[in-house]
Order: sequence, then structure tokens, then C-alpha cells
Amino acid sequence: MTVIYERVALIGLGLIASSMALAIKRGGLAKTITGYARSAETREIARELDLCEVYDTAAEAVRDADLVVLCVPIGAMDAVMAEVGPALKPDAVVSDVGSVKQAVVEAVAPHVPEGAHFIPAHPLAGTEHSGPRSGFAELFDNRWCILAPVPDSNRGEVDRLARLWRGMGSNVDEMDAAHHDLVLSVTSHTPHLIAYTMVGVADDLSRVTDSEVIKYSAAGFRDFTRIAASDPTMWRDVFLTNKDATLEILGRFTEELFALQRAIRKGDGEHLHAYFTRTRAIRRGIIEAGQDTDAPNFGRGPATKG
Ligand code: NAP
Repeated sequence: MTVIYERVALIGLGLIASSMALAIKRGGLAKTITGYARSAETREIARELDLCEVYDTAAEAVRDADLVVLCVPIGAMDAVMAEVGPALKPDAVVSDVGSVKQAVVEAVAPHVPEGAHFIPAHPLAGTEHSGPRSGFAELFDNRWCILAPVPDSNRGEVDRLARLWRGMGSNVDEMDAAHHDLVLSVTSHTPHLIAYTMVGVADDLSRVTDSEVIKYSAAGFRDFTRIAASDPTMWRDVFLTNKDATLEILGRFTEELFALQRAIRKGDGEHLHAYFTRTRAIRRGIIEAGQDTDAPNFGRGPATKG
């Protein structure tokens, strides 16, 4: 148990912030955790759960905090930071957990006062559930957290934030915001869009009734529906803010899809077999890297996903 920050403020008290509060407590990584959420209802639930000291304004929550972590949807970062900026302690560290990094840097950096340190971050961990009740202390265990320091981020403070994430169970890596957005568009953003599309297609098929889609849902479709149940606000913001990288990867995806479509039409079994053999190796690589297990149902319990 090593205290890394005396006082940590979590702005937004949903899945990620509540998991952070529990993981910070588990590791004894802060003396005090404070928090703020937009609605009185969420603040009340957070109080009931005893997640942290809950305040009725963001400005009160960040007062005297050594670390402030913005845990709100990407589209809300600008307005939230505008409120938080003037209330910060002079040498506070400001970070975030947004799933897109360049847009967050553009929204947050202008509001960070002189003397404060801004270190964007993104834990690659989540579930399709939202809100303060959905958090759990193990969410970040053995998952990656990517820090995306800006050019003037203080090295010592970047290392301190990395220690906090390691204390919460994460592995930590660093990359610049643009590279992060490209990598995540391949590993997370575009796959979510494809899952949303596939579930939408099934829903549109008038000859397959809803009950048949549900009754006969096989592993492939079921996994898509889990991903497609993810929070609509969060994912709307991801696609509005990681536009270029997503469009780039979607373009490549469409080309590959057409190639597979042609192979199916021509009965080119060799092409299909070679393609599926290559993709199977990627799955093995993910398991070997400890980022999933090969247990049935993709190794996922009913409530978690990577
Ligand atoms: P969540 O469970 O929906 O919680 C969002 C929190 O932000 C809630 O406390 C909400 O308050 C508050 N909020 C929403 N809109 C706001 C606004 N306009 N102004 C002020 N506060 C607002 O979301 P989450 O899953 O924790 O996601 C939070 C961040 O983590 C997002 O930026 C997301 O990109 C990132 N992230 C998510 C995942 C994931 O899988 N979920 C993974 C990694 C990173 P109310 O409850 O009062 O509305």
C-alpha cells in the first residue's frame, strides 16, 4: 500500500470512475478520493455506495486535489474542464480516461492553467454497462492503460501517473495521441461499428422475427449484440471525434470485405481458408499475450469484456 497522490478527484462517476475509486482503495493509492457527477441521482448513488467524498459541483470536488481525472464522455470534456480549470490547485495533475486522445487534447489543453500538468490517458478496459453501480475494482487488472503525454508533460508526473495505473492493476504504455487514435480505431472503434451494423442488419431483416434472432442467436451474433449494447453516448462521441482514423480503417475493411465477397461468389475456398488461417493466428496471439482466455464464450463472464 503506497500512497501515490494524497487527494484524487474523479469527475464523472460512471463505470470507469467508480472502478478507479474501488481500485485506488484496493491498492491504498490515495488518502482521499473525491468525486462529482452531473446528475443528483448519480451523486446520490455514489454516496450510497460510499465510492468517494461526493460534491455537488466539479469545482468543489477538485479543490486541493493533486490529481484530477476527467471520466465523462468525450463530448463533455471541454465544458467540464472549463469549469474545473480555475478551481485547480496550482501544480495539480489533470488526466482523463477518454477513448479518443487527439480530440481530448484539443478540448482540455486550452483550459489547463499555467503550472498544472496535463497527461491524457486511456485505460483499455470496459464493459457494456454504465453508471456508478457497474464499477468493480478488478476492471483494470492485466489490461493496458495508454498514457499519451503532450509535448510539455512533466516526465516525473508522467511516471507518477504510470505508477497509479500500475497500482490499479494495469500494464502501462506510452504513445502519442495520433498514434493512439489509429491503433484504437483498428482494435476497438471500427469493430464496435461493425458490431452495431451487424445487429442493425439483423434487426432490419423482416423475414427473421425478433424472437428468432434472439432464440437462435449463435456465438457470433451473440458476441456482436454484447458489443452493440455499449453506451450510445460514449460511442457516438468516439465516432464524432476519431473520424479520420475510423474512416481510414473502414475503407480498408470494405476492401477486404469485397475481396471475401468475391471469393465466396467464385467459390474460391483456398482464399477463404488462407484468410481464416491468418486471422486465427491473431486470436492465438491475443491469448498468448494474456489479453483473453481460450475458455468457451471467448473466456468472458456475463458482465465483462476487454
Ligand atoms: P458512464 O458510465 O456513462 O459515466 C459517465 C459519467 O459522466 C456519469 O457520471 C455522467 O453523469 C457524467 N456525464 C455525462 N455527461 C456529462 C456532461 N455533459 N457533463 C458532466 N458530466 C457528464 O461512462 P464511462 O463508461 O465511465 O465512460 C467515461 C469515459 O471513459 C468516456 O470518455 C469513455 O470514452 C471512457 N472509456 C470508457 C470505456 C468503456 O468501455 N465504458 C473504456 C475506456 C474508456 P450522470 O450519470 O450524472 O449523467
